Amino acid sequence: MPKILFSTPCQPYPTQFNNVSLTDASSQRFTQQQDIFTMSGHMHCHGTHLIAQNISAPSIFLEYPTWDYFEKEVRKEYDFIGITFFQTCMDIVLDMCRMIRRLSPHTKIVLGHYGALAFNAFFPEDFKREHADYVCIGEGVSFFRQLLGEAIDAPIEQRQFPRCSDNLPWLDKHPRGAVGFVVAGLGCPSACDFCATTEMHANERIQLYPPDKLFEEIKRVYQTFPETMGIIIYDEDWLKYTEEVRELGRLIQEDTEFGLRKINFVAASSVESLSQYAWDELPLTGFKATFIGVESKFAPTEGYQKRAGEAKDTIHQLLSRGITCSGGLMLGFDFHDRVNILEDINYYIACEMTNHQISRVSPFPGTPLWHRLKEEDRLYDIPWVDQSFYGGGMKYRNFEPHELESLTLEGYRKFYETWGPTVMRLLKVELNGYEWCRASNNKLLRQERAGLHQETAQMLFPMIRACEHFAPNGLVRRRIRQTQERYIKLFGKPRRSQEVMSYFVLAEAFRAKIQEAIDPRNRHPKQEPFKVYIYEKNGQGKNGAPYKVLYPVRDRGYEFYQAWRGIKEGALGKLMPFLDKDRIAEAEESPAISSSVKFKLL
Ligand code: SF4
Repeated sequence: MPKILFSTPCQPYPTQFNNVSLTDASSQRFTQQQDIFTMSGHMHCHGTHLIAQNISAPSIFLEYPTWDYFEKEVRKEYDFIGITFFQTCMDIVLDMCRMIRRLSPHTKIVLGHYGALAFNAFFPEDFKREHADYVCIGEGVSFFRQLLGEAIDAPIEQRQFPRCSDNLPWLDKHPRGAVGFVVAGLGCPSACDFCATTEMHANERIQLYPPDKLFEEIKRVYQTFPETMGIIIYDEDWLKYTEEVRELGRLIQEDTEFGLRKINFVAASSVESLSQYAWDELPLTGFKATFIGVESKFAPTEGYQKRAGEAKDTIHQLLSRGITCSGGLMLGFDFHDRVNILEDINYYIACEMTNHQISRVSPFPGTPLWHRLKEEDRLYDIPWVDQSFYGGGMKYRNFEPHELESLTLEGYRKFYETWGPTVMRLLKVELNGYEWCRASNNKLLRQERAGLHQETAQMLFPMIRACEHFAPNGLVRRRIRQTQERYIKLFGKPRRSQEVMSYFVLAEAFRAKIQEAIDPRNRHPKQEPFKVYIYEKNGQGKNGAPYKVLYPVRDRGYEFYQAWRGIKEGALGKLMPFLDKDRIAEAEESPAISSSVKFKLL
């Protein structure tokens, strides 16, 4: 068997625009500029796990390694070392390649992911040969199977990918994985000229998992981790594939173990793909959150097919049915001038998304946009660390780069000063979903999906006090109070445990605010913990994870935090039912209270 090592780039990573972490999407983009309510989270490199799970050879995957550990592994003389990376880390990866060439000359180097597309497009042939043996652009499982002489069309399996999560760091600094992950397909046929994904898969989509297999894995996640909050179904625009979505929805509806009461998924969509559905059918599929690339109000008339339709109306239709929306706006298109760019930002804010992403048009090497700008002599030679969502690297038609940077910050700030913290936007959408489901003629929505919204709203309620106290202005404070009144109208006065929790959160918010004044969080962009995943292929994973995880670098701060969190949760776990004992007894006796409400109270 060949010896295989996979790795991400070695840490530390460069920071991004505005000194944010490269790997923390919540603070980097989705909740940026929300004062102490900016969230923080972690993601895993699922593409590499997918490859490791679907080749016969055992392998080791270093996720966010240190240089020392990577060097130690390189000296073991693997047959293949595969490095997955974003182009932002190009300089780190080139150094890793040089180290491999020096310490283990017979090892074959494979580069993959977006960074590989950039590497392939940017460097001359002799430089590429000097640093790598293979460049994997596109679907990685078949690529590796072919490389290793395995059957390319053997079935693909996915099992218990590492889970991700986010939270307010002053409430939980290291949130445990709460969201599962499964891949439906790769690539996208929409062919936006700035998009590296569509380019990597030659403007096509490859289905990796049909709905029955998705459902099987989703169920396994909920069975293994009953506290699972949802599942990310990875596909660039999964809602495009109506038959798959409807079939998964049917399986979820028929499921008697979890059904719509528990199972819900996040999937990327587009204005175009969503237009294929009647709005009311979407919650019945288990669809509960999405990312929509709005890009620009003017995108439909500027040749972006996925935006055919009215983005604001689409997003409002989803929000009113309890489906949360993240969305992306891009600044710096050639059609943007100093007037219509403000119109674009205001349109985007009017969409009222729960999370937001404002980025700059950036020519990622290898994309059609990059090729066009190269021909037009409009590419800047910028460092690789600035090749990101927020980067530039191009001469904008009507702007200096710094103008777009300040417009980005202004857009984020306006969003926060108009709609408040993401946690409050989420609560509002949960209330929408509850009201809408309760008013529905459909029994599953009334009894199951409504219960899911209620449970999430109850969980978010204790955040209200702190959000109201530290609201950025009166406009937002009033909106938060209105949300609170609505909550009470729907669910009655909060339980004693919720009140106590809300004071606890407020006290923690004061602490965070003081900390922010003395030593802002932005001074310490997050680096990820280093993990080693061992895929031994010895039958492991038939009933659990197909890998073992090691933490080679001991972090005493993290160990202390875990122990302290355990004590805190244990104490709260005992205190809360005690505080609510009257309500629990009432719920047990009252046949009028639905089983879902009882479930939550208990
Ligand atoms: S719709 Fe999204 S994933 Fe598809 S090509 Fe456009 S930007 Fe890329």
